[in-house]
Amino acid sequence: MKNITTKLRSSGLLLKAPIYNAENIHAKNRKNAIVMFSGGMDSTVSLWWALDNYENVEILIVDYNQPHSIEIDKAIKIAKMVGAKYQKIKVDFPTSFWGIENHLTRGQACLMTSLAALNISHDGADIVMGILSTDNYGDCDRDFLDHIASVLFHPNDWSDIGIATPLRAVKNKSDVIALGYQYGAPLSLSWTCRDPINDKPCHNCMQCRQRDEALVSFYREYGISKDQYDKWSLVCASPYHPYFRDVSYDIHIVVEAFLQAGGFKHGKRCYVYTSPDGKQRVSTHISSIESLEEAGTGSFMDLIHIHGYLHNNYRWELCVSPNGAIAATDVLPNVSVIEEELIKKAEF
Ligand SMILES: [Zn+2]
Repeated sequence: MKNITTKLRSSGLLLKAPIYNAENIHAKNRKNAIVMFSGGMDSTVSLWWALDNYENVEILIVDYNQPHSIEIDKAIKIAKMVGAKYQKIKVDFPTSFWGIENHLTRGQACLMTSLAALNISHDGADIVMGILSTDNYGDCDRDFLDHIASVLFHPNDWSDIGIATPLRAVKNKSDVIALGYQYGAPLSLSWTCRDPINDKPCHNCMQCRQRDEALVSFYREYGISKDQYDKWSLVCASPYHPYFRDVSYDIHIVVEAFLQAGGFKHGKRCYVYTSPDGKQRVSTHISSIESLEEAGTGSFMDLIHIHGYLHNNYRWELCVSPNGAIAATDVLPNVSVIEEELIKKAEF
């Protein structure tokens, strides 16, 4: 048993997966997402979830004169990294407003959903919010958010409007870190501090303390050391990313058939890097790495990318290069699922 634990620790894999209940997300549109993006840890994980679950993802960054303005610079860096369309809105509140002066976020969810609503077309969208199960402001309440979503709908709309709360699928912030770690989301670039010292986190304000405490719980609950976590997360790597490897004969045949039928039409620009375990892995949501000064070890390739979730929320991914090289997660669905997904790509 001790050997298994040692091996697990050096692999970067987590001891367990977060318990995940997708029913608490309330996604409705499934095609368009507007991610309310603060550049903090929670909204960064929400952004990665949205990139996984919607065809079109737009990012809204709101500058409302919050005291932690570094967050906005970080948000823009991360938005550029994923290559999604982003817009920054300036809402010029006086800094003497009590909530802003005192770093409180009362009414913030309500304000953000209203701002996002102004950007929804008749094609509808889900407003994606990084609200946690533990957030206890009244406007973070699920019933309240559902009501807001229902009143945003207009008779001329031809598609749904929802407010999706992906982080409500898990219990608390250490689970959110686990999700972000699995995604390989740039948690190290995300910003939380409300009271920075020389542009560095103070580790003393309430937000810093919550983040630091959540990280410590995450290390303990998920059986990973800080060193291992840093080694992977500082370069946006993840031991859960697909890597170039041999796959089963069945899958190999399906991929060959896909390529021979001219299925490779529109590749997705993906980041290919050497991970701390020496494998060539693919981060499918990163399409520019300028923001990640520490990385720079990878390159970009156009790949066909398919992915999904197995029943226990295990995320599978498979990437195909034009010359037939395959990167895949360790666990994959039945070959018929892969075939179906590749056919969709060929038709696109
Ligand atoms: Zn701080």
